[in-house]
Amino acid sequence: MTAQQHRFDIVIVGGGLAGLSAAAYLSHKGKKVAVLERGVLGGRAVTLPIKGFHFNFGAHAIYGRDTSMLRYFEKELGLSIDWRDFQPSKAKYDLGDEVTDVPANIQGLFRTKLLMGLDKVSFTFNILKTMLKLETGHPHLSIQKWLEKKEVAEDVREMMLTLASSNFFTKEPENIPSDVFFRYYSRLFLTNKPVAYIGGGWQALIQEFVRVIEEHGGAIFTKTKVERVSFENDRITAVHAGEESFSAKQFIMCIPPKELDKVMQGSKVEGIVKHYAKYDPTYVMVYDIGLKRRIESPYTYIYDKQNNMFITDISYYDTSCTPEGGQLLQATAYLRQEDMGNKDVLEACKEKMEQLYDKHFPGWREELVVPRISQRAVVQEIKWTMHQQAMPIFFPEYRNLFFAGDWCQGQGQLSELSFSSAFAACDMILQH
Ligand SMILES: Cc1cc2nc3c(=O)[nH]c(=O)nc-3n(C[C@H](O)[C@H](O)[C@H](O)COP(=O)(O)OP(=O)(O)OC[C@H]3O[C@@H](n4cnc5c(N)ncnc54)[C@H](O)[C@@H]3O)c2cc1C
Repeated sequence: MTAQQHRFDIVIVGGGLAGLSAAAYLSHKGKKVAVLERGVLGGRAVTLPIKGFHFNFGAHAIYGRDTSMLRYFEKELGLSIDWRDFQPSKAKYDLGDEVTDVPANIQGLFRTKLLMGLDKVSFTFNILKTMLKLETGHPHLSIQKWLEKKEVAEDVREMMLTLASSNFFTKEPENIPSDVFFRYYSRLFLTNKPVAYIGGGWQALIQEFVRVIEEHGGAIFTKTKVERVSFENDRITAVHAGEESFSAKQFIMCIPPKELDKVMQGSKVEGIVKHYAKYDPTYVMVYDIGLKRRIESPYTYIYDKQNNMFITDISYYDTSCTPEGGQLLQATAYLRQEDMGNKDVLEACKEKMEQLYDKHFPGWREELVVPRISQRAVVQEIKWTMHQQAMPIFFPEYRNLFFAGDWCQGQGQLSELSFSSAFAACDMILQH
């Protein structure tokens, strides 16, 4: 077989949210772009159709959509996004023997039983300081250490850690660096749209990026796994997938560090990439259930504080994800690193999730059409802890090589990190 050569302005490796948003943006700006994806498009934001239900591999909650990078892409690229705003009054904490409001807004703060009297004032004061950026934390202090140092009252401390647990998808919120914590909340507390879902799920968004890429003459290669790169002095010259080679002026690698580690072997950044590949991701267990009939409930989000798990009624916001009259519920449990691979812990976790369904959606077992469990879902490739840092989007060793994804430096977390690092990489390319 003869080797096939392709030439583009920019080659993007990885067809997840980072790769697709970068490709859409750059092709919109007139660049000749190619996306190379080893499987199907979407990466961790893939939607799986099973028996008429559309399971999003990960939820599609966008935090602070009005100030998000996705909102910028929406305006700039003319994406059509069917936003479905979350209703804070339908979000509750399950405290074991009672259910109370999540202090996601002022009404919730006023009504929640998690904080009493003066603690509410103190919590509000802390929110205000964060909004006004009077409190910025410090990279060398975890949020736990920061709360101790500032002698924050016990209940307020617990409330802040509970909020962080659900926003950072972690069972160990105390280890989040305090500067990351305050940066995150200074943005989130200022938003008018704290959480929004997307009608049609991730799939609808992916189709929109693909539409923009194709309308501007971009090329998408699926089932194309990049195995290695060629380089010359301080430039990458080509990436190789089997018999095919793709050369370009610039490259953006939108593949996770553990995969990059294999692809960048022998290059000048091999050692640096290896360092990031060793970091722990944020893992969760996801247990979706597709039901043939809706089980009505006063809430669409319920967080079990004791067990660090929550249920979202995905189909309440996105009716297109079920057959007519059906319901799709998604339970997510936060896991510790040491829980991974421990069958007993994971089995116990699954049972607790079923008990949570029993408690808040009684009768679900009789309505069950299809369950879907993933025991080891990677919510974010590099977990926020004191011992791990996000990867830069550029290293000086190669002047035409950039990186993007939720493991890279950027704004917010989860998909917002993918979008914001993708934008930053595109911006550097366009500035050249
Ligand atoms: C259970 C769960 C819940 C989540 N909930 C939310 C949420 O509510 N809100 C939110 O914003 N985010 C959420 N996320 C996170 C979100 O899904 C990710 O942040 C985002 O999808 C990451 O996109 P990415 O492009 O950065 O990386 P990825 O999705 O990992 O994309 C990398 C792509 O590169 C491809 N690839 C890898 N190696 C190669 C190679 N050698 N050659 C070619 N291609 C390659 C992969 O196949 C993949 O398509 C959730 C994730 C999970 C798992």
